[in-house]
Order: sequence, then C-alpha cells, then structure tokens
Amino acid sequence: MSDKGSTKSCLELQSLLGSFISGLDSSLPSDVQEAINSLMGCQTAGLSPALFYEVVEQSSVAISITDTKANILYANPAFFRVTGYKMSEMLGKNESMLSDHNTPPIVYETMWGRLLQKKPWTGMLINRKKGGERYLADLTIAPVVGSDGETSHYLGLHRDVTEQQRLEQANKNQKTLIESVINGATVAIVVLDENNNMVMDNLTYKAYTSEMGRGNANYELAHDLLVKIKENLADGYTDLSKRGGSFRDQVISFNCEDPINSRWFNCSGSWFNEMDFSADNFFESKKHRYLLLIINDITQLKRQEDEIRVNTMRALLAEEEMNQGIREALLGAMYQVQEPFNLIQAASETLSRRIKNIESGEAVLSVLRQARDSSLNAIETLQRCLPESANSEPWEMLNINGILRDMLSLSTKRMLSLGITVNWSPDPHLPPTYGQDKRLHSLAKHLIDNAIDAIEFGPRDSSRELMVSTQLCSGALRIVIQDSGHGIPANLRSKVFEPFFTTRHQAGKASGMGLTIVQDVITDHRGTITVDPNYIKGCRIVVEIPVRQAER
Ligand code: FAD
Repeated sequence: MSDKGSTKSCLELQSLLGSFISGLDSSLPSDVQEAINSLMGCQTAGLSPALFYEVVEQSSVAISITDTKANILYANPAFFRVTGYKMSEMLGKNESMLSDHNTPPIVYETMWGRLLQKKPWTGMLINRKKGGERYLADLTIAPVVGSDGETSHYLGLHRDVTEQQRLEQANKNQKTLIESVINGATVAIVVLDENNNMVMDNLTYKAYTSEMGRGNANYELAHDLLVKIKENLADGYTDLSKRGGSFRDQVISFNCEDPINSRWFNCSGSWFNEMDFSADNFFESKKHRYLLLIINDITQLKRQEDEIRVNTMRALLAEEEMNQGIREALLGAMYQVQEPFNLIQAASETLSRRIKNIESGEAVLSVLRQARDSSLNAIETLQRCLPESANSEPWEMLNINGILRDMLSLSTKRMLSLGITVNWSPDPHLPPTYGQDKRLHSLAKHLIDNAIDAIEFGPRDSSRELMVSTQLCSGALRIVIQDSGHGIPANLRSKVFEPFFTTRHQAGKASGMGLTIVQDVITDHRGTITVDPNYIKGCRIVVEIPVRQAER
C-alpha cells in the first residue's frame, strides 16, 4: 500500500487536509465529520505526521485525494474496501471510473458547479464496484485551496449507504403500504398517545369528524367517544390502559333520541407500546403507550334494526287491536245475550213457583228452561271464543323514552301528511322501569293516535302541534302528551275513560275503547292518568307511572 516511512508524503497529506478542512461546512454526515475532526485533532495537537497519516489510513470512511481533473492521487484502505479495487488499479485514474452512468447528469453538473466556486458538495451517486455491483455512495467533495487562492486538489469522502438506503426505503414502503391500507379502510382508525393527542388517523376518521364537528375545525370525535367509553367501562378503562389490554364492541350513541340526527358508533380499542428511540433514552429504554381506536359507524344498521323493531311492534299492536275488537264484539254479544237470559231465568223461576200443578204451565216452564239452557250455552261458547287478553304479557325492565320514540316514528308519515309539528323532549336521564312492553307500547300508541286525531279533526285555523315529553318527578316517570286539537270538554273529562265512549263518531272507526285500555294499563302499572283541566289550547294528558325495579 502506501509508504509509511515517507515523511514527505505524510507532510503533503497533512498540509492538503489542513487546507481543505477549513473550507467544509457543518452539514456533513456525522461519521464524515467525525473522521475530519479526528484529522483536525491530530493536526491542531501538533502530533507527528506519521501518526496523522496513520489516522487517515485507518479511518473507516473512504477518503481519496485527486487533482483538479478528479484523477486519484491518494486513497485510503477504506476506499479500496468499499470500491473493491486495488490501489494499483486506481491511482492516476479518474474518479469517474466509479460511475455507474445511472446518476442523472444534473447531479454532476451541480457538483462541479459548487466545486468550481471552491465550495464543498455533498450528495448521493450511483457507483459501481470493481465486481460490477452497484452501490449508493454518500459522497462529500471539498476543494483544497492553496495559499494562492486557487484549487489545487479535491478531497473526497464517501460511504456505501446502500443497505441504509434499502432499509429506509423499505421503511418508507411499509409506511406507504400501511397508510394506503388504513386510508382505504371503511372503518375509522385513530392512534392516540398517553395524553390523548392524535398521532395518526385515516380518511374515514376525518370524514366522521368533519360530519360530527359541523364546521368546528378543532373537534375530535375520538375525544368524545373516549369520554363515553370511559363511562361505560368505568374503572376497567384505567386498568386496561395500564396493562395494555383491549376492549371490543363498545356501542356509543350521540343524539340517540333524535331519529334524524342520531349517530351510533361501535368502538374497539387496544393499547400498545412503542420504544423511544431518542438519544436521551438510548441506554435506558423508555416506552410510550398508544391507543389504537377502531370506530365503525353503525347508524344505518341501528336505524334498520329500529325500523324492524317498530314494524314488528306495529304488527303486534295491529294484532292486539284486532283481538281487542273481537273481545269487545264478543263481550258486547255476551252482554246482549245475558240480558234475555236473565229475563228467561227470572220468568222460569217465577213460573215454577206459581204454576206447580198446572199441566200447561209445566209445558211453558219446560220451554223457558230450554231457552235458558241454550242461552247459557251460547254465553259459554262466546266466553271460550274470547281471545287472550294482553294482560298476561311478561314483565321486564323497560325504557319509556324508547317506547314513546317507537310510537312517534310509527306515526311519522301520518303526522307529516297532516303537517303536524312534533316537539319531542325526552329526559335523557330517565331510569328504566318494570313494566309490560307491548301494553305500554299500546298505551303510547293510543295516546299519540288520539292526539293526532284531535288535531286532524280539530280547529283548522290553529297551529298543528304535538308535544311529547318525559320527566322524572318524585320517583315517577311523567309522560306529557299535549296537542293543539279540539280538546276534551270539562264535562267529558272523566267519561272519556268509560268503555265504548267516544266523541269521534264522525271518524267512523272509533270504538271508544282506547282510553279504557290506556286506563287499564296504567292501573296495572300502579300509575295515574289525568286530563289537565288548566290547558285550554287543546288537550294535555299527563301520565305518571312509578319507577319500579324488577320483582323476583
Ligand atoms: P464527465 O465527462 O466526467 O463530467 C460530467 C460533467 O461534469 C460535465 O458536464 C462536465 O462539465 C463536469 N466536469 C467534469 N469534470 C470536471 C472538471 N474537472 N471541472 C469542471 N467540470 C467538470 N463520480 C462518480 O461517479 N463517483 C464517485 O465516487 C466520484 N467521486 C469523486 C471524487 C472526487 C474527489 C471528485 C473530484 C470527483 C468525483 N466524481 C465521482 C466525479 C467524477 O470525476 C465525474 O465527474 C463523474 O463521474 C462523471 O463522469 P462522466 O465521465 O460521466 O462525465
């Protein structure tokens, strides 16, 4: 290799390095800077040229010194290790022999442009090793300017960064792949740090956030969801986040009482750790905890479920109404038959007492007895035909708001066609109560239908409004249904609860049993119903049902 004994070449090298070092800028790669610093260290400490030469020779950075035409005058062993050439094959040759001819010409033009201005240049070139293998060279070239102000040499320092570049590129590719998969996902994906700062999100999340934030650029859906998830999981949330656990299928709703603006999200999350690679924590590994939150908008699904539930309820109520009609008709018929039966019974008893020994009387009595028996048979037959009453329905914990909302949505079409404005004010904190689902649905349906009928057949000039509200009052659920219809005159306020009483004969379909059924349901639920006497702009019905827990 080099002649280590030659003091002349050592001194030349030292002086060359000394003059180029001062021209370098500080943006060099760290290991190149390190090599230069070590060279500077030797020089400024006034160490021997032989030691200085040794430092360059043993440097892990490939170092070469050229003339102004880029012909190689000197190269250290690292240079030959990187390029695969021997010294004899390179000395006197141009650096261009390393070129793979795939580096765009503009790169060389820029490089030489800088060098001709006596400025150092740093960049990447595609080089070819002796064996033909391509590699990426991270190269720094610095002009060596003599005391006459002219460039006398160039000093080149380069490293093979192919592997580093491959890893960086693989990393970038993986990141791009992950980003495109995440962005293409139909569910929203968010990553939050320990302080709930957003670290990453995808396009679906951005879309959800902009819809829910309604123009508020600072709104973050994830923050709102996390508040509700924490409420759902209570202490479990802190525990899961501490031990890096996960949760699944947390259904979170916003405006759930509003059939148009309600939104439902299904959320699953899992915590994971990431190592801190900052220099501060190099020796003491530190972990950061992140939460990966996956959010699925299930509003459509919920609406479909609601629709199915309401339609099922509609069918059940229709069946119940039909059964009720049959019951009423049969009870009416039984009542009609019962009366002549009672008369026959009375007549036959009177006759049997008065005309004991008269033959003709016996004959009449026998006819009367036959009539009585066949009447009794008829009553018993009708009794057997009575459809089962809904009173036998099982009891369960129920959400009154949900029942009223169901029944309002059942009447939406009708109310729209009549131009009725609905004011629905549910108490969001209403507790569930023990009751009979179908019967309470039926109660709500009758009261809402009555209100709509009253508006339809009420004063034409008044505004068409229906107000339904719920409230918790002294341990009871208070339901208020108020309409702007024709109202109930004071003298009829208690009569309307009697069976077969109706003020709507003109409607042609009213049986007068609706409020009787409502009264029955309320009595069985230990509640009360009143027609507010102070409300005169229509009718205000107030139902109060005590909150009850399930009975064992
Ligand atoms: P060239 O004909 O050599 O030059 C291309 C362009 O550069 C031309 O347009 C020309 O105007 C300009 N140019 C070339 N030489 C000079 C000059 N002396 N003065 C002014 N302008 C000039 N190249 C590599 O590919 N890999 C290396 O590792 C490498 N290391 C180098 C180390 C040092 C210290 C120096 C000074 C140069 C190095 N070069 C390296 C650059 C190399 O000398 C060639 O310029 C380059 O390889 C392009 O070669 P070419 O034959 O394709 O084109």
